[in-house]
Amino acid sequence: MNKKTAAGKDVLARQFNVLCEINREINYCLEVKPLLERIAESTARLLDADAVSVMMYDDRENVFKTFAGWKSWASEEPAVVFSVDEGIVGKVAATRRAMLVENPEESPDFKPGGDSRMPPIKSLMCVPLISQAGEKEKLLGVINTSRRTLKDNQEREAFSIQDIQLFEKFADQVTAAIERSRVYEEVRRRTLQLQIINDFSRILASSLQKAEGFRAALVFLADKMDLSYAQLLVMVQDDILFNFNTADDEELIPAVVRGLLAHNRIPEKAPSVLRDSRCRTALPLEDGGSQGGYLYLESRQPFYFDEEPIRKVLETIRDQIHIALENFLLFREINESKQKLEHLNKMKNELISIVSHDFRNPLTVIHAYSELLLIRPDLDHDAKKEYLHSIFAQIGHLRRLADGALKITRLESGEMAYCREKVDMQKLEEAFAMRQMPHHRIRFVYDRDLPAMYSDFDRLMEIMDNLISNAIKYSPRGGDVIVTGRKKGEFVEIQVADRGIGIAPDQLNKLFEKYYRVHDAKTKNIQGTGLGLYICRKMVEELGGQIGVRSRLGSGSTFYFTMPVFADQTA
Ligand code: ATP
Ligand code: MG
Repeated sequence: MNKKTAAGKDVLARQFNVLCEINREINYCLEVKPLLERIAESTARLLDADAVSVMMYDDRENVFKTFAGWKSWASEEPAVVFSVDEGIVGKVAATRRAMLVENPEESPDFKPGGDSRMPPIKSLMCVPLISQAGEKEKLLGVINTSRRTLKDNQEREAFSIQDIQLFEKFADQVTAAIERSRVYEEVRRRTLQLQIINDFSRILASSLQKAEGFRAALVFLADKMDLSYAQLLVMVQDDILFNFNTADDEELIPAVVRGLLAHNRIPEKAPSVLRDSRCRTALPLEDGGSQGGYLYLESRQPFYFDEEPIRKVLETIRDQIHIALENFLLFREINESKQKLEHLNKMKNELISIVSHDFRNPLTVIHAYSELLLIRPDLDHDAKKEYLHSIFAQIGHLRRLADGALKITRLESGEMAYCREKVDMQKLEEAFAMRQMPHHRIRFVYDRDLPAMYSDFDRLMEIMDNLISNAIKYSPRGGDVIVTGRKKGEFVEIQVADRGIGIAPDQLNKLFEKYYRVHDAKTKNIQGTGLGLYICRKMVEELGGQIGVRSRLGSGSTFYFTMPVFADQTA
């Protein structure tokens, strides 16, 4: 055996050992990035090379990008990117065959990459990484390796034919390892995505009663998907129901979303509408009905939303939001009608208690007097007249009770209709001019330039009627009832003052409550239902004003309320 053959055998034995060793190492590497680094370093070890770069093919940009590298000298060379048809890499990719090039810097195919201060290349090999896994062969990338003419080793040997054959075999093993780790990473990523969907729906489940659940789910999503911005904008008809975003600004609507809303550019069934953008996406929440809006997301990684699995995750998440939203709205609706029903039920019970309590007294009187009239036909004329008078008065009281109860039902259930118009004091004065009483005079005192009110004439008449009737009713000795009008800021204040029995201070704050009446010696013989002032307060408030009273026992009372000034005159 000559020396050369023996040396060749040594090399082969060494390479075989290295290959076995590398195989073991590679098998332990599950994640892609460390695996590629291990491959770069192993290539150098196996082939006694000075530099290695593992370049992976990026089919979105149609380029080869350096993912891992190894060099025998210190360098801070930037990662190299080659277009598919550039240089020796491009040629290997196109022919899908390994290349061995001596003095490559002189080759017409050579394209210098990176730093020009790098040691000159003595010999270069480039192998394609071809996957056979699918139906068709697929180019995953290439590995470049070179021997350099370093300062201290001018006599560097070029790569041999055996070297490139070994390199090709090695490339086959490497390809299988890369594919295996890609599958591993994919499975891990999918598992994480499923976990995100799972946790997201768990957080959303808390949104049935509180809209806060949607905010929490959004913040979770942004965190888990490493999004730079996330927003959930929900519209019901043209109103924003909620605007949750990771900037925590309820007013914020990014220009893109504003544009989408303005042009109503919500394509039906489209999973994502911002296909023009690399790192933004908007998923419409349109349901074909009254509800719409967007789940709008911005990613830190370009092309993030182009990935099919990510889009699927987002579509699932969008659908979950949709369902949660429908449930939330339904729950709200049910709650509202439940409250309404409870209110109506309360009103019904009140009405029943009035009928059974307040109606009882007048009915007892009517029953007793009519019975007397029936069984005592011998009664004299005056007595009969007195009984009939009482029956008549009690019937009147019953009628007022029934009217009042009905009115209250309408006021409280929101059925009472109000119109808004220009009403001036003069019109009110004219309406009351007809109603002069024998013992009371109604006087109106106000400036002629008093601004008109923005109110409802008929309701105002009812309010004034109640206050003036009270003023008359609770001034049994007669006297003037003075109605004054004056401007008070953006309001007109109307006062109704009498010189009647007055009200004790401790009663004043209860007068506007439903069915409240003052019970004392002076009011004992004055009939009423206790509803007039309550009705007044409800109507005044509904018309945008406030009502109040000042009074001194024995010297009279002043009731006052405000109404907004008619807008034309405030300007
Ligand atoms: P209704 O107006 O329903 O026939 P009412 O007059 O008793 O009955 P309100 O108008 O609501 O009921 O008044 C509530 C109570 O306030 C009255 O019972 C009365 O005691 C007191 N009150 C109201 N207006 C005056 C007034 N001008 N002077 C003295 N007391 C008054
Ligand atoms: Mg009254």
